[in-house]
Amino acid sequence: MKFASFRVRGMPGYGLVTGDGLQPVPATFMARYPDLRAVLDAGALEAAAAAAQANPRRPEPQLVRMDPVIPDPGKILCVGVNYLAHIREMGREPPDYPVIFTRYPGSLVGSGEPIVRPSVSTQYDFEGELAFVIGRRARHVPRERALECVAGYSCFMDGSVRDFQRQTSQFTAGKNFPGSGAFGPHLVTSEEIPDPAALHLTTRLNGEVMQSAPIGDMRFGVADLVAYCSTFTELEPGDVITTGTPSGVGFARNPPVWLVPGDVLEVGIDGIGLLRNTVVAE
Ligand code: ZN
Repeated sequence: MKFASFRVRGMPGYGLVTGDGLQPVPATFMARYPDLRAVLDAGALEAAAAAAQANPRRPEPQLVRMDPVIPDPGKILCVGVNYLAHIREMGREPPDYPVIFTRYPGSLVGSGEPIVRPSVSTQYDFEGELAFVIGRRARHVPRERALECVAGYSCFMDGSVRDFQRQTSQFTAGKNFPGSGAFGPHLVTSEEIPDPAALHLTTRLNGEVMQSAPIGDMRFGVADLVAYCSTFTELEPGDVITTGTPSGVGFARNPPVWLVPGDVLEVGIDGIGLLRNTVVAE
C-alpha cells in the first residue's frame, strides 16, 4: 500500500495513493486519527486503507499540494557518511558507529513543493536518500527483529548548506534551513519492500543523473540503524530515519555543482516513487 499526506485548499488530509490517484480518508476517520502519525501510533493502517477505499470523494488534482509523508514527526534522525563511495569522496574513513544528526520538521517540504536556497549562502547542495518511517515503539531492538519496526519507505532529499555544515564539527546548522529538504512523495508500506538493500537510488538534476547507487552499498543498513538508534532513544510511530546519501553530491564535484533557483531536482527509488522539487531563492 502507498499512503500520502497532502493539503487540498490548505486543508490537511491523507489517504491512499493508487493508480487512479489520491483516495483521501473521510473527515469522520480524520476526526479519530488526524494524521498518518496518529494512524501509525494506533496500528490502524489497514483501517485507514479501508476508509479511503470506501470514500467516494476525490480531490481535484490541481488543488492538491503534497506534504512531507509524515508532516510532523516526533523525531527526524539522519545518518551521515553512510555510503562507502560517498565516504571516499568526502575524504573520510568509514565510521565505526552510525553518524547521527537531526533535522526539524520545518526544514522539509513535500514532493512538488519549492525547495529553498537560503539568502545567506550559495553552497546549497543535494543529497538523494532512502528514508524509512517507524511503525511501532522500539527500544533496545535486536538487529534480527529491527525490520518489524519499520512501517514503510520513501524518498528523501537531505538538502545541505555546505558552508554552514562545515563551520563546525556539528551538522545541525547546515541541515536545517527552512524548506531546504524534501520528503516524499508517499510511504510504501514495508510488506512491499522485504529487502530495502535491493533497491536502487537515482538523483537527477535538470534531467542529468548525478547520483546512481545500490542501497546495498550502505555501511549501516536499515536494520543496523533501527537497532543502534533504539539503544539511545525510544523510537516511536511516525519517527523518520533517513539513511545517508551515495556519491555524486555537488560539493564533491570538480568544479562543485551548487543548486540555483529554477533547478529541478528528482530523487527516485525503484519500487517507491519519485520525489521532485524545484529550487527557489529565499
Ligand atoms: Zn544526508
